[in-house]
Amino acid sequence: MTVAVSLRDLSCVFHSAGKTVNAVSHVNLDIDAGEFFTLLGPSGSGKTTCLRMIGGFILPTSGHVAINGQDVTQHPPYVRPVNTVFQDYALFPHMSILDNVAYSLMVRGVDRNTRTRRAHELLEMVQLPDLATRKPAQLSGGQRQRVALARALISEPQVLLLDEPLGALDLKLREQMQTELKALQRSLGITFVFVTHDQHEALSMSDRIGVFNQGRLEQVATPGELYHRPATRFVAEFVGAANVLLGAQAQRYANAQAVMIRPEFIRICDDADPSPRVKGKVGDVQFFGAFWRIQVQPDDGGVALLVDLPVQYFANAPAAGQQVGLSWDQSAMHVLDGATQS
Ligand code: ADP
Ligand code: MG
Repeated sequence: MTVAVSLRDLSCVFHSAGKTVNAVSHVNLDIDAGEFFTLLGPSGSGKTTCLRMIGGFILPTSGHVAINGQDVTQHPPYVRPVNTVFQDYALFPHMSILDNVAYSLMVRGVDRNTRTRRAHELLEMVQLPDLATRKPAQLSGGQRQRVALARALISEPQVLLLDEPLGALDLKLREQMQTELKALQRSLGITFVFVTHDQHEALSMSDRIGVFNQGRLEQVATPGELYHRPATRFVAEFVGAANVLLGAQAQRYANAQAVMIRPEFIRICDDADPSPRVKGKVGDVQFFGAFWRIQVQPDDGGVALLVDLPVQYFANAPAAGQQVGLSWDQSAMHVLDGATQS
C-alpha cells in the first residue's frame, strides 16, 4: 500500500491576544493512496488546522508533511499535488459556472478549447451539465457544492482535501451528497481527506477515521473498530451513544476500572431470559423512530443506563417508573484503558 499523506510529529501553535493555543499537537498519521480518510472531532479540536497544514495554507510550528513520499513541509500550496474544497465553497461570484470550474486550468495557461472541454466533462461528472452559463448566485446550495467539487477536481489532484463540504446542506441533501461523494471517490480512486464533526457522516463514508480531541489524535481506526473498540472514553462518548461506567459499577459488571456498553446491546429481560444482570427503574423514555431510548436507574447504584429498544419489538415502550431487568452478552462489554482521563 502506497502512503499518500504522511504527517510526522506535526504541531501548530497559535499565539493570539496573549494566549497560546496548541491547535494541533504531535500528530503522527499515514493516509493510504486511494483511501477515504476522515478527520473527526468536535469544534475547535484542530481538524481544519491539520487539513490546512496538509494543503500548505498554514506552516506547521514543528514536524513534517510528506505527500507521496516527498517532504512538502515548506512548499507553497500551488505546487502540492493536492486541492481543497472549502466549507463555504469560495466560488467567484462574478464568473460563470464554467469559468469557475475551469479557473485552475486558466491560471496554468491551458488553452481555452481544452479547458472548456474539460470543464464541461467535470460538470457532467457532478451531474450539472446544463448550468455552465449561470452565475453561482443562481444555484442552490447543493449545486454550488457540486461546482466546488468539479472545480477542485479539474486539476486532477492526487489528494483532495474537503473541509466540512456538506455542512451547509440540509439533512436530506446532505445524505444524498454523502452517497454521491463516496461513489465519486471510489470511481476516481483519489485519496480523500475529509473533515467533519458529524460522527454519522464519518462512520458511513470513511475507510478509516482519525478522532481529534484538543489538537491530539486520539485514535485512528476503521469505523467498526472505532465504534466497537474505542481506545479512550472520549472516543467512546463522541462516536455514538455510550454507557461509560467507572469505579464500583465497572467492577460489578466487568471487574474493570472502566467499561463501555453500547445502548443497543442491552436488552430487557423477559420470560426466556429470567436472570438479569441488573434490576432497575425506568426513567426518561425517548422515541427516535427506529428505536426507543430509555434510561434505567440500577437498584444497586451507579449511573443510569441508556438502553435502545428496537421499535418493532415494542409497540409500547416501558413506561417511566416501571421496574425492569436488564441483560447483555459478555461480548457487549468493552473494557476501556486509561479511560478516567476523559
Ligand atoms: P476545528 O476545525 O476542529 O473546529 P480549528 O483547527 O479551526 O478546529 O481550531 C483549532 C484551535 O485553534 C481552536 O482553539 C481555534 O480557536 C484555534 N485557531 C484556529 N485558527 C487560529 C488562528 N488563526 N489564530 C489563533 N487561533 C486559531
Ligand atoms: Mg474546522
